[in-house]
Amino acid sequence: MGKVRGSIAGIGMTSARTRDRLVERLRAHGIHSEAVLHQIRNVPRHLFVDEALASRAYEDTALPIGHGQTISQPYVVAKMTEALVDGFDCEKVLEIGTGCGYQTAVLASLVKKVYSVERIPELLRKTRRRLRDLDIYNVQFRPGDGWEGWPKYAPYDGIIVAAAATVVPEKLLEQLAPGGRLVMPVGAPGYQELMLVERHHDHFEQRSLGGVSFVPLVKG
Ligand code: SAH
Repeated sequence: MGKVRGSIAGIGMTSARTRDRLVERLRAHGIHSEAVLHQIRNVPRHLFVDEALASRAYEDTALPIGHGQTISQPYVVAKMTEALVDGFDCEKVLEIGTGCGYQTAVLASLVKKVYSVERIPELLRKTRRRLRDLDIYNVQFRPGDGWEGWPKYAPYDGIIVAAAATVVPEKLLEQLAPGGRLVMPVGAPGYQELMLVERHHDHFEQRSLGGVSFVPLVKG
């Protein structure tokens, strides 16, 4: 009792202490939602990257996941998630850019249902299996172009876009419910502003949450 056994997930660079350090770092950088911090601590990020990179999984940095794509930096995942769910009953979320599914996993237990769109089928195949292995079942995936959103299940309380463009896609704004929130990096390649857009009755209100750098939201 009291002592954690040395399972693969519990040793070395993936230990509880390593995860705690990451959480404390995010807290120091202004993440305040305990629910979000809890998820960052809980989701085993080392299972979302190649084994060769597992020892760096709890560093606050983006890492390659193949196909020229990256797993987002934990701080950015936490910031985007907090912007969506903090003080807001966000039940139905559309995610664009599933990638390895780390953001999806962080989000999944904070909302009722996640609809997630990814344009690279090979990534999606692996991600589907990974989330099932982690017993995450409230996510529906779809290979496709995120510029189109996913009209079938619209409107969404929240929309989270993990790839950058110079504008917020019109279709995504259309699929956002009144009172809903969208978070997305907007700007040129290399540097973007993380924008939070809120839909009111007759207008959209937006503000920047700070500078970020994302891979591009590819057209088509
Ligand atoms: N959400 C991931 C980060 C993914 S990186 C995480 O948690 O770490 C961005 C992802 O967006 C990549 O997998 C890329 O293939 C995908 N993407 C880029 N353009 C897209 C588009 N138009 N539609 C859907 N997905 C797109």
